[in-house]
Amino acid sequence: MKETRHTGDFYIRSKGRRIVIIGNGISGITCARHIRKRDSEAHITIISGETEHFFSRTALMYVYMGHMKHEHTKPYEDWFWEKNRLQLVHDWVTSIDFEQKQLQLQQQEPLQYEILILALGSKPNMFGWPGQELQGVQGLYSYQDVQRMNENTASCQRAVVVGGGLIGVEMAEMLLSRKIPVTFLVREERFWQGVLPKEESELGMRHMREHHVDLRLQTELQEILADDSGRVRAVVTRAGEEIPCQFVGLAVGVKPNIDLVRNTELEVNMGILVDQHFATNLPNVFAIGDCAEYRVPLPNRKSVEQVWYTGRMHGETLAHNLTREPVHYNPGPWFNSAKFFDIEYQTYGMVPNEWEEPVQSFYWEHASGKIAFRAVFNGKDKRLHGVNSFGMRLRHEFFDQALKENRTVEEVLVKLQEALFDPEFYEQHNHEMLQAYNRQFNTSLQPEKKKKKGLLAVLGL
Ligand SMILES: Cc1cc2nc3c(=O)[nH]c(=O)nc-3n(C[C@H](O)[C@H](O)[C@H](O)COP(=O)(O)OP(=O)(O)OC[C@H]3O[C@@H](n4cnc5c(N)ncnc54)[C@H](O)[C@@H]3O)c2cc1C
Repeated sequence: MKETRHTGDFYIRSKGRRIVIIGNGISGITCARHIRKRDSEAHITIISGETEHFFSRTALMYVYMGHMKHEHTKPYEDWFWEKNRLQLVHDWVTSIDFEQKQLQLQQQEPLQYEILILALGSKPNMFGWPGQELQGVQGLYSYQDVQRMNENTASCQRAVVVGGGLIGVEMAEMLLSRKIPVTFLVREERFWQGVLPKEESELGMRHMREHHVDLRLQTELQEILADDSGRVRAVVTRAGEEIPCQFVGLAVGVKPNIDLVRNTELEVNMGILVDQHFATNLPNVFAIGDCAEYRVPLPNRKSVEQVWYTGRMHGETLAHNLTREPVHYNPGPWFNSAKFFDIEYQTYGMVPNEWEEPVQSFYWEHASGKIAFRAVFNGKDKRLHGVNSFGMRLRHEFFDQALKENRTVEEVLVKLQEALFDPEFYEQHNHEMLQAYNRQFNTSLQPEKKKKKGLLAVLGL
């Protein structure tokens, strides 16, 4: 059943309707909370097979490392859901009948919906390596993966992590926290080559090596070998090297988790295809978060965005659209943050791994090799394109505004004091950073003193 697509057709108001959300991650939960804030009459049900309650996926590693208990990763108390009349169903949806508007569940009775929100998340990539199904071989995505990792590494002498991105680094850090030596196989010439410029990539690699990660570049996994009991005993690389290990972490990216809706009337590509309102090709069926793919990506954005804050913004936007006059998704400048062991990494706007004239770059790195800042800008008018930072905490609002207002790199650098959380950091490093810029670009920039708030401003007048 294909229908002509008019935005109006895709929206009935949430009021009093039976809304079912599949997925209790950041996108599904944000959407549910925001619908409830604006609409006390909607019947909202959230289904997840993974856990009964919403938890922070980004904190999974800290549970394995013993820094947090699972309870501490739950942003809301368990009573929150009932109090806000958000019905939770802990079960797997096994199929969807879009014609009848009905969901089949693995354990419980079928559920009817009037509005269906698919917030199915991602799943780890597996590239069909021989031995990838062996015991002791796994990816890292879910609550169950962390439990499995606990079991799989209980008597592990050596581990191999495969993949050149952030989840690979997290896995290495997790394993090292239990004193398990890690060999990290990276297919490319350098770490996270597709994303980070050379200097940042080298900073990350140096830091991993300092933490005793045995980093092997340009090394590809060929196959995983089993012992007599069906457990992993070694990996073999493309070059034929056999590396003994009792655990293999596969961290080669994620893809939208859309098996549930494949071969149905719902249009999918890499993910579930949506317009700027998160509407799919079927009336009153929406998709948000990691599983959604924009039919037309926004300028300078990918068609699938698999990060926490975009999931939250998707949820907020869809909730708005179901309760108010629909608006287009408008996430503003790109932003992401992560950690390389103890070094914080942030990126704002567009910082490609390589660039050509007229684009220019300013890179400053502290002598310690653990603090760095890069600004990428248009060489003609100096308009800022984006920044990367390592080992410092930048204020999101500052760079969001700077990028939205098309400020120049120089306007940003002289005001950097406003962007830094840590005043000591500013005292110590900002002068050095500006001097480096002045030398490279033959300027004489001086830091602007932070404006003291006048009495009227303090009083909010
Ligand atoms: C280890 C790790 C670390 C990360 N760190 C960062 C970070 O530092 N910063 C950042 O921005 N992002 C990070 N991410 C990515 C971020 O966590 C995701 O982008 C985000 O959680 C996606 O949210 P979501 O709501 O789309 O889906 P999810 O959080 O994946 O939620 C989807 C839910 O739907 C459930 N579900 C799916 N299918 C069914 C079904 N058929 N029946 C019932 N339930 C179903 C799933 O089990 C899951 O619980 C990290 C991800 C991982 C795995």
